[in-house]
Amino acid sequence: MRQDQEDPYQRRSAQVYAAADRAGSGSVASPRPVLYDAVLLDRDGTLIEDVPYNGDPEKVRPVAGARAALDRLRAAGLRLAVVTNQSGLARGYFTGEQMRAVHARVEELLGRFDAWLVCPHDDADGCDCRKPAPGLVYAAARELGTTASRCVLVGDIGRDIGAALAAGAAGVLVPTPVTRPEEVAAAGWVATDLPAAVAEILRRQQAVQPSTTAPVRTALVVRSDSAGDVLVTGPAIRAVAAGAERVVLLCGPRGRAAANLLPGVDEIIEHPLPWIDPTPGPVDPDAMRSLTARLGAVGADQAVVFTSFHQSALPLALLLRMAGIDRIAAISDDYPGSLLDIRHRVPVGVPEPERALSLAAAAGHRLPDGDEPVLRLRPDAVPPRPADLGDPGYVVLHPGSDASSRACPPEVATRIVGALTDAGHRVLVTGGPDERAVTARVAAAGGTDLGGRTDLAGLAAILADASAVVVGNTGPAHLAAAAGVPVVSLFAPTVPFGQWGPYRVPTVRLGDAAAPCRDTRAASCPVPGHPCLSGVDPDEVVDALRTLAVSGGGSR
Ligand SMILES: [Zn+2]
Repeated sequence: MRQDQEDPYQRRSAQVYAAADRAGSGSVASPRPVLYDAVLLDRDGTLIEDVPYNGDPEKVRPVAGARAALDRLRAAGLRLAVVTNQSGLARGYFTGEQMRAVHARVEELLGRFDAWLVCPHDDADGCDCRKPAPGLVYAAARELGTTASRCVLVGDIGRDIGAALAAGAAGVLVPTPVTRPEEVAAAGWVATDLPAAVAEILRRQQAVQPSTTAPVRTALVVRSDSAGDVLVTGPAIRAVAAGAERVVLLCGPRGRAAANLLPGVDEIIEHPLPWIDPTPGPVDPDAMRSLTARLGAVGADQAVVFTSFHQSALPLALLLRMAGIDRIAAISDDYPGSLLDIRHRVPVGVPEPERALSLAAAAGHRLPDGDEPVLRLRPDAVPPRPADLGDPGYVVLHPGSDASSRACPPEVATRIVGALTDAGHRVLVTGGPDERAVTARVAAAGGTDLGGRTDLAGLAAILADASAVVVGNTGPAHLAAAAGVPVVSLFAPTVPFGQWGPYRVPTVRLGDAAAPCRDTRAASCPVPGHPCLSGVDPDEVVDALRTLAVSGGGSR
């Protein structure tokens, strides 16, 4: 499913209560904000205190600081909608008229909202709009004249965050005493209260917007490490490319295949960086000298060094200085002395693509209007899909990962293939040349084994025609995101989901987010039995596909 056709929810739409007299509010400042057009807010427990099945306007109590926080969003030009499950309507606990009186009271206290989206159904109705289904989010985005991926939803329970992610929107969890600990663990973005959530939304929006721009002739951008790291840096590299005549990318051998797929790159230099590689060789002085000379020959008037939060940009910054580059930007918590001209800082928890975009902004670059901050591949770098795979609309299961701690256990993957096949899905099992034994075993449960058949570009071609991809936290998850294909993310919590989850694409997260491997960054699982993923029930994957509106047989 492509970003520009992300609305499969026509069957049973939510009730929309948009006010007719509200045209012309919140005129959008120029240029268009990079990240968000709108903020969607859950009602009970988020905007107002939760009074179960309330039909009485007198009982409406806003949460602390709500009015001022919402006014900050309005002043920033963001449109606001309420997205709320009200199964009390289905159950007859209150009438539509009573509910509208409650909403009028909410607006009296909190100011007006640009749209109200209400699911009037019960779980038993099996509708497409009751959160965690994404229907309300799609409907709100449509009502506000934007797309789901340009919305951020604030809610107090896992259903809210599930709905946001399933639509490809961002989700901020503001826990209350009734929020379950596993819901807090699974959320990629958590704020202490509504004002804090709003402050962080506005901070992230601001951080990718440069305060000044300076033209650049040749920019040297750097992203070492693996394919996934390179792919999530893509939006930032496109931002630099928009402000530079020529972009040269320095990458490592493990990221080269992904670098070939990135738009905006004119030239690639491949060289391992021993302070970045997970299994580094010794530092070879001759290799460092020849790298320095090569970097000097680029003639860059600016270098932007992208890193993950646990990597240091400083050793390379020294080489870049020795290569004669006099404008260097990087994220560094460590004191950089005179190695950096722009020392950028980013709080933890920011998605990697936005973290990189914020560095590009600090260096004076932003994505041009019309280029959404999504992952993207060069169309001419992706080959045609092999003809023998049949029609599009299959589900891809990619069980492996470079890091075994983030791979789906083969026995779980095997049962997933069985469950998907039973539910009518056509399943392709993909993996690298060294994963053939696993893909053969997994595919034997009813899928087609494509292990070792593709390079990264070929895999991108196969993923692009999938109706969904079931994959761990590894490069192909980001390839799927770049193709706009929904992801069922079997996410080992060794690194934060909020930073490394599939970006701006409809996603359902599965796996135990609170498992003991959490935040260990371990490459091989430190916990016997790999419990974060071994407990995934194959039926959860079938349900996740249903939430993502992917039906068996491949039609959507
Ligand atoms: Zn509904």
